[in-house]
Amino acid sequence: MSKRPIIGIPAEIRLIKDVQQNSINQPEIAGVVAAGGAVISIPTREPDLMATYIELCDGLLLPGGPDVAPKFYGEEPIPQQGDSDALLDESEIKLVQLAVEKQVPIFALCRGMQIMNVALGGTMYQDIESQRDKKTLQHYQKAPMDQGTHRIAVTPGSRLEKIIGGGDDIYVNSHHHQAVKAIAPQLQLTAIARDGVIEGVETKDSDLITAVQWHPEFMWQNDERMRALFTDFIGRVEKHQ
Ligand code: MN
Repeated sequence: MSKRPIIGIPAEIRLIKDVQQNSINQPEIAGVVAAGGAVISIPTREPDLMATYIELCDGLLLPGGPDVAPKFYGEEPIPQQGDSDALLDESEIKLVQLAVEKQVPIFALCRGMQIMNVALGGTMYQDIESQRDKKTLQHYQKAPMDQGTHRIAVTPGSRLEKIIGGGDDIYVNSHHHQAVKAIAPQLQLTAIARDGVIEGVETKDSDLITAVQWHPEFMWQNDERMRALFTDFIGRVEKHQ
C-alpha cells in the first residue's frame, strides 16, 4: 500500500480546562482522510519553526480562525476589527510563503483564504458591513454550518468551476465579517456572492492554491461538490509529490 500524502494543518491554541491546548477541527481532518490524505498538526506559533514543519508536509490546509491583524496589510484597526493574533498571522504568512517557494499545494478555508491572500500581497476589508458601499448580505450566518445560506457565482473557466461546477444554485455557508479587498497579484477571482463579496480565489498560472471564503469542512459530508474540493486537493498534492 502506498504512503498517503501528509497534510499539515496549523492548530488553534485555546484554553481547555484552564490549560492552553492545541486543537484542529475534526471535520477538516475527516475531509482530508476521506479524500485519501493523512493529517499532521502544526502546533506552535513560532515563525522560525515553520521551515521545519513545511519540510514534513506534502500539502498545507489553512483552516478558519481569528481575523488577520490589519498591520500585515498596512492598515490601522477600525473599531469593528475582531480578535487577532499577530504571532499566528506571522507563522501562517511564513507557511504560505514557504509553501509557494517549495511548491507545496494549499487548500485554504475562510480565514485561511484571508491570511493566504495577505501573505501574497493582497488586502482585506476589516469589516464588510461598514466598509463596503454596496448593500451587504448576511455573511455571518445564524443557520447551522452544514447548511448553505447564500449563493455564489463561480467564474467560468476557473479551476474551481472544474471542481464544483457552475450554475445558479450553489449555496455555501458563511461565517465571516471580513473579506478579501485587493486580490494578491498571483491569484485570481473564482467565486463571488450576489453582493460582490469575494468568495473564492486560486493561483493564476498553476493549480498550487485553491481558496474559498466558506467552510466546506462542514458541508462535504452531505454535499458532493464540497467533497470534490477535498478530493481535488489531495489530487493536486499527489501530482506535486
Ligand atoms: Mn459569505
